[in-house]
Amino acid sequence: NHHYHGHHIVLLPFLAHGHLRPFLALARQIKHSSKAVTVTIAATALNLQYLRHSTDSSDDILFAELPFSDHQNTENLPVSRILDLCHGSVSLQSPFRKLIQDITAEEGRAPLCIISDVFFGWAIDVAESLGTLNFTFTTCGAYGTMAYISLWLHLPHRETDSDEFALPGFPERCRLRRDQLHRFLRSADGDDPWSRFIRPQISFSLKSHGWLCNTVEEIEPLGLEILRNHVQRPVWSIGASSLKNNTYSGKEVGISSKKCVEWLDEQKPESVVYVSFGSQNTIGSSQMMELAKGLGKSGRPFVWVVRPPLGFDMKGEFRSEWLPDGFEERMSETKQGLIVRNWAPQLEILSHKSTAVFLSHCGWNSILESLSRGVPIVAWPLGAEQVYNSKMLREEMGVSLELAWGFESRVDEEEVKKVVDLAMDGKGKGGEMRKNASLFKELIKDANVRKEGKLKGSSVKALDDFLSYVLEKSKQVLKPN
Ligand code: UDP
Repeated sequence: NHHYHGHHIVLLPFLAHGHLRPFLALARQIKHSSKAVTVTIAATALNLQYLRHSTDSSDDILFAELPFSDHQNTENLPVSRILDLCHGSVSLQSPFRKLIQDITAEEGRAPLCIISDVFFGWAIDVAESLGTLNFTFTTCGAYGTMAYISLWLHLPHRETDSDEFALPGFPERCRLRRDQLHRFLRSADGDDPWSRFIRPQISFSLKSHGWLCNTVEEIEPLGLEILRNHVQRPVWSIGASSLKNNTYSGKEVGISSKKCVEWLDEQKPESVVYVSFGSQNTIGSSQMMELAKGLGKSGRPFVWVVRPPLGFDMKGEFRSEWLPDGFEERMSETKQGLIVRNWAPQLEILSHKSTAVFLSHCGWNSILESLSRGVPIVAWPLGAEQVYNSKMLREEMGVSLELAWGFESRVDEEEVKKVVDLAMDGKGKGGEMRKNASLFKELIKDANVRKEGKLKGSSVKALDDFLSYVLEKSKQVLKPN
């Protein structure tokens, strides 16, 4: 432990909620592993608000503000403006450089390393010029990260006319269909605005000294193998330790945890479908209508986090006209459905014994949270790497069924009912999914056991190994001050 005394590690997360949480978890893990290391998270004002509210002094994590003039309201930025945020984020480079210089001046030596988000590949430049090391942290899973990298760097769908194509670096069986690609990617030619942001950032990140991945060694053997082959650097999977403490979200909370739990308490064990599309997404209005009808028709209890559909102000009032006539009243009277506005206590819901399946957009945090509670998934991936996550859940892990994908796919009520029924069928597919999910629950739990010796879980051990590696590497690479 004393080896780390006086050493400083600076974390640089991407500016979205789904990235902040894993970075915060990483900061905590570093402090757990060695209290002697100073850890600073650098972020913009709005994101710092979230981070500060989610920590207390016992965490002993420092924060540094990076001024960001372009997009103050970053966390609540509509998905349509994420590209602006991406391009704007590159401007953080100069305040970040100044931060590292200030730390160096104050402490008489450069930080031990910078751990930057995969989308902030530019950090390597800062690290190299200021005499420190740079590691990349991907907040997604290994398989999803790698599919994303492979697609954006190789654009394999442009090399073929066929509808199906192989993913470079993946086994032949992991094929994708053109219609599974996000429209930005489908139309990307390498010189479009998305490519111009993503491709260089990923390429820079691939030059860092090593990667940390927010996953668990035992749950993603394939994803990690492919990622390691591609990165050709050490990859430590350190995932999923602090999957709790999401009390402050910076979002308007639609229901108290207490009320939500009371509602769940009244339901039968393993009977409830929990429906949510993450921190920043919503679905189309006709999709919403069909989903409502299908859930109603299934006759199964559900908790559904609703937001105004696409095309409306996501932060605006939710109007009853977006749901079938009298739907909300009916669901409330019969106690079949709890419709929550905007934000629900997801971890409490997933941890409750009444919850049976999670109808999810397959954001990686949601997946880890669900699997760590042994809850199988009905997938409706929307954007980012979610389609690939869904593919892995289905094909490699056997914990999910896919209901729909994207904002455009036609969803009908019968299909919703059918898929939900299948997922809830304890004797058939549903039972198998649940059994597999409970295996992953154990693996995730074991990976995070923090005891000395043999009992140390793989994620805990990986973080210890990472810290030793950084210390050694810094002796070899960095000039002594
Ligand atoms: N979340 C929540 N309540 C909600 C919606 C989301 O607590 O109503 C949390 C959820 O527990 C998860 C995060 O927000 O930790 C969503 O992250 P994910 O990676 O699943 O999706 P993203 O928001 O990045 O698309």
